[in-house]
Order: sequence, then structure tokens, then C-alpha cells
Amino acid sequence: MKHLICLLFSLCGLGMMTKAQHQSKIAIAVHGGAGTISKANMTPELEKEYTDKLDEAVSAGYAVLQKGGTALEAVATAIEILENSPLFNAGKGAVLTNEGTVELDASVMDGKTLSAGAVAGVTTIKNPILAAIAVMQKSPHVMMTGRGAETFAQQQGLEIVPNSYFLEQHRYEQWKKLNSGDNPEKGHLSPKNPPSEDTSIKDEKFGTVGCVALDQYGNLAAGTSTGGMMNKRFGRIGDSPIIGAGTYANNQTCAVSATGHGEYFIRAVAAYDIAALMAYKKMPLKKAAEEVVMKKLVKMGGQGGVIAIDRKGNIAMPFNSQGMYRACIYPDGRKYIAIYKE
Ligand code: ASP
Repeated sequence: MKHLICLLFSLCGLGMMTKAQHQSKIAIAVHGGAGTISKANMTPELEKEYTDKLDEAVSAGYAVLQKGGTALEAVATAIEILENSPLFNAGKGAVLTNEGTVELDASVMDGKTLSAGAVAGVTTIKNPILAAIAVMQKSPHVMMTGRGAETFAQQQGLEIVPNSYFLEQHRYEQWKKLNSGDNPEKGHLSPKNPPSEDTSIKDEKFGTVGCVALDQYGNLAAGTSTGGMMNKRFGRIGDSPIIGAGTYANNQTCAVSATGHGEYFIRAVAAYDIAALMAYKKMPLKKAAEEVVMKKLVKMGGQGGVIAIDRKGNIAMPFNSQGMYRACIYPDGRKYIAIYKE
């Protein structure tokens, strides 16, 4: 009898535990880059294309979570859709380097295990986010670059494409404009040669994509993918593939994906800083994200924004630029899609 009661108790306990493990709310957010996104440079048709694609990505990621998929799977699904769209500066349609080629960076982090993966400066991997996940899951390393990363991706059976696959006409036009005549930006960007005031060019510099998600097991994940900054040179790598700068996830605090002028995000250790404010200063997600994006980065002169989520499903999407392509689905199922400041 005593044994039976014990068994009943432990079964009840087990039942409760399983329920608790699956009790967590689900939520997801995506971004498609931040920058000088002005209504003046946008047509209603283009605006619809952007919001439709953001909707498709965030909904597909959410569907993964609804079916019991992991936060990591949701992040991969959403980012792959955005990488395959020529609208954004990631995968197909990424910005061009000064040499007129495309060099891509991506990273991912699993908030449960704190494992992470990244690729940088890759030129032939169709979906760099999948390569970042492969680095995390199938290698003992965190980051791989250039040809080595491409060989590894090929060995993992990922799709390899010629660099021309990524090239889109509108990016070429922007590149031509930047590198012609006496454009002050001809050559490359430097501290003395900041982003142009020509908004039609500025618009094209941003457009990195990212996703953060919370799954029903209470786990967080974050991922970011980009072509970097237009006209970049000398193997320049931004914040996007750097864990702690462009991407960070820890179940104890939050998952973050950043977008903006990478040099500033690297020096601000932006993504990790948000998590650190939550961990050490016990700041709530929104306050921590705003502290970094609206105060620290603004003081440094770093333009951009982040999407962030905590394990309760709170979502913060602050940006200090004119706009940020963004979308999310809250734990109550409410969907939000926006481009400009509210
Ligand atoms: N953060 C990216 C980089 O600096 C660019 C962007 O988000 O638009 O490479």
C-alpha cells in the first residue's frame, strides 16, 4: 500500500513535471533590418511586399512553435524565408562589397545549452543561417570563415550556389551609384566617411534579418543573417556573426538579434549587454533593451535596433534609426507588423 501511494505520488509529480515542461507560452519576433527607412522612398506596393514577407516569415516560425518545434527550428525557418527573399540584405539580394561580390555572415545561439554557431565572409552557401546551425550542431567550433566554412557546409550537404545567385539588379544599381563619379563614399566607409545622407543609398545599407523565439519547452533561441554593410572592403565582418554583439540567447535572461551599424554593436557588445543588464541589474527585458539601443548606442553614435524576447514571452523591439522592418506574434496569438516609428 505504501509503495502504491509512493508510486501514485511520483506519477502525479511526473505528470506535473511533464506539464510544466510543456506549459510555456510560445512567441516569436523577426526583423528585416533597421536604418533610414522613410515613407518618402517607399511605394505602397513595395511596403506591401515587405510586410507580406515579414508576415510569411513570422507566421512560418510561429507554426513551427505551435506544432511543438523548438525555438531553434522556428528561428531557422523564419530566417531561411527572409534569406531567400531579394527584399532583404541577407542571402539573395544582399548588398555588394566594394569588389562587387556578395559576402555573407550569420550566427545562431541556443538559449538552453548556450551553444552557438556562426559563419562569416561566405560567398557560396545559399542559406548561411543553416551553415551557422551546422557549425553549432555538427562541429566542435563556434565560428568558421570563408572557404573553410564553405567546404564544411558542402560536407554537411547544404546547398551551394554560385555567387551570382545572390546578386540583384537593385543592389548593383546602388553599388554603381556609390562607386561612380565623385561620390564621397566611393571606395569604402570609414569613420571619416560615414553613411551617406542620400537616403536612397542609405536605405540599401541595412536590411539584415533576424529572429528570436520562445518555444513551449521554455527555451529561447536567436539567429541573425546579413550581407553586412554595402561597399565593405578587406574582408570586413560586422556584428551579425559575432556572438554577444549581433546575436545572443540565454534561457535565464533573453534572446536578442541586432541590426544596424555593426562596428558600434561590436564595441557595445550590444546583444550580450541586454542579457547582462537583466542578469546583474535585474532589469526587465524592455528596459534593458532600451538602455542599450536608445542610450548606450545613441551615445556612441551607433544606428540600429534589436528584437528581444524573454522566457515569459515578453517582446521588445527598440530602434534608434528612422525605421526597422519588424514583426512578432505575442503569446496570446496577437500579430504585429511594422516598418516605421509608431
Ligand atoms: N549589422 C550588420 C553589419 O554591420 C548590418 C545591418 O544590420 O544592416 O554587418
